[in-house]
Amino acid sequence: MAPSGSRYSRERERMVERQIAARGVDDEDVLEAMRNVPREEFVAESLREFAYEDSPLPIEAGQTISQPYIVALMIEAAAIAPGDRVLEIGAGSGYAAAVMAQIARRVYAIERQPELGRVARERFERLGYDNIELKVGDGTRGWPDAAPFDAILAAAGGPEVPDVLLEQLAPGGRLVMPVGRNRESQSLVVVRKTGDRRFEQTELGAVRFVPLIGEHGWQDLTARAPAARRNEDIGVVIRDAAEALPALDSPEFGALFDRFGDARVVLLGEASHGTSEFYRARAAITRRLVEHHGFDIVAVEADWPDAASIDRYVRHRPALAGAPKAFQRFPTWMWRNTDVQAFVEWLRGYNTGKPKAQQAGFYGLDLYSLNSSIRAVLDYLDRVDPEAATVARQRYGCLTPWSKEPAAYGHMALTSGFALCEKAVVDTLQSLLDRHVEYARADGENFLDAAQNARLVANAEAYYRAMYYGSAESWNLRDTHMFDTLKLLLAAGGQKSRAVVWAHNSHIGDARRTEMGQVRGELNIGQLCRQEWGADAVPIGFGTHGGTVAAASDWDAPMQVMPVNPSLPDSCERQFHDAGVVPSLFDLRPGQRDALRERFEGSRLERYIGVVYRPDTERWSHYADSELSRQFDAWVWFDQTRAVTALAEGHAQGMPETYPFGV
Ligand code: SAH
Repeated sequence: MAPSGSRYSRERERMVERQIAARGVDDEDVLEAMRNVPREEFVAESLREFAYEDSPLPIEAGQTISQPYIVALMIEAAAIAPGDRVLEIGAGSGYAAAVMAQIARRVYAIERQPELGRVARERFERLGYDNIELKVGDGTRGWPDAAPFDAILAAAGGPEVPDVLLEQLAPGGRLVMPVGRNRESQSLVVVRKTGDRRFEQTELGAVRFVPLIGEHGWQDLTARAPAARRNEDIGVVIRDAAEALPALDSPEFGALFDRFGDARVVLLGEASHGTSEFYRARAAITRRLVEHHGFDIVAVEADWPDAASIDRYVRHRPALAGAPKAFQRFPTWMWRNTDVQAFVEWLRGYNTGKPKAQQAGFYGLDLYSLNSSIRAVLDYLDRVDPEAATVARQRYGCLTPWSKEPAAYGHMALTSGFALCEKAVVDTLQSLLDRHVEYARADGENFLDAAQNARLVANAEAYYRAMYYGSAESWNLRDTHMFDTLKLLLAAGGQKSRAVVWAHNSHIGDARRTEMGQVRGELNIGQLCRQEWGADAVPIGFGTHGGTVAAASDWDAPMQVMPVNPSLPDSCERQFHDAGVVPSLFDLRPGQRDALRERFEGSRLERYIGVVYRPDTERWSHYADSELSRQFDAWVWFDQTRAVTALAEGHAQGMPETYPFGV
């Protein structure tokens, strides 16, 4: 049937193993069928490289091809067996029908959108699926002429299971359908026909599908209210809620954020890693929180050892002998830019002459510094306990062969089935912590730094191994490490200690309110802070419509200043752009601007530009579904933004010799 042995077959094998079998689908027929259907043939040419990602993808007519795992889960739940006659409602791309056709005798598929129906039919023909019959029409009525069916699957969510569909089930037949009270979220329902009019119903949990539109489904909204009118309404709501931001360099800017001054943690996002306005706004807000509200920790999405040398600089402590220069690793512009430099200078000035307890510190939450952290632990032990240094050197030696490319270590651990260095790194951390009292007496502050580096090495070892199991697992380890680091910093600072976090929107907004958490099983710092501190953790998102951004076209490629595409028509960003507001703050907390909050409760596309930006495939590489007003407590909007200015190599002009960014 389907062509096999294509260059995608390895990706397909990995998809089945990591996204489907690993999540508990174990029906061999289903796994085999998923191994056989070339998913890349069911998406647009430009999207093929994303075909095996762990997510739904857009298809024509504003619809989606379901996430591979969900397709497998539904087919398993419907217990489709060889010889079965199956009805699918919402054929879309035709992918799920093709998977079912690998197992069942005959598949009847209905699709509402004529354009999709035509393309799917062509695919079936080209790929040789001759046991699928597709018609265009309203599937909520079923297909009475072809009934009864052994299984019925709906690939779109409706308000209830239509009776007409239950009537078309054969005795013992199964129906699987997303059912929910609103259009945006559903629970996956499985109904089994146990007798003539007898049914048993179970639920498989929360899912998100496009709406099922038809006689026994939802109404077609586009036919009632043209999109333009609905956008006009939202424009009024946005303009009403906008609080204009003062100039970035005016003290009034930070004052607008005084309302968040009582929080334990304020998390400041960014929609890219290279936009000047985001950095300057975060700096202005942070200055205010530090000067007027007692915040004493600035924790950023950067490596711990690099941030530690900045911390020494801002707190007027001498640099550690032999410490490498800060932020030499890709992406250097993220921290070596003029906006960060200005903030660091301000922080140093703020700390001048203050006793240690009243100073504010600068810390890194991330874990990409395996080598420099190993070196920092060894340097520390060389100074305080040369004997322990010898042991630690031996233990860390386990990782030395992989020091240039730690990902290769993860690969080795996976293929050999053995976490070779796990014990070594955990033991080093434990030995260090065991001597806490003794070391800390001799060298208090440096002990905390060394312990954090040892912790980082242990977590990084696990991170590189997890990279090979699946992206969600390594992402979760990384964000959990960042959150744990934040908690340790707050604990070390005592009861009154308060933190500002600078990290990307994708880390600080509540992941449970986005595609990350809802589709891919990913958590993030924002979510963990919410779970720990409730309303005392305040995530603030930042967005833009257009302008320029500093980014690379590939990992490790040189930085470029790129134009940012105008935001997409359906996105959150476009609503703010169309409203025509000046740079503004939007308070999204309950009880503040509820009309606005409600308009952004449902999910819409939101743009996430990273250190890599690919304008050509932007929709698929940089947008994800997000419920903006539940993801963030506030939204800071700059319609037009500019790229950051990276620091030139060599000393920045007029900087003191000790300046940590100097090379
Ligand atoms: N199984 C598909 C998923 C497509 S998304 C795949 O693997 O690609 C759901 C599809 O349901 C959309 O294409 C949408 O147009 C269609 N749809 C919504 N309401 C429908 C209805 N009443 N009858 C038939 N199709 C419907």
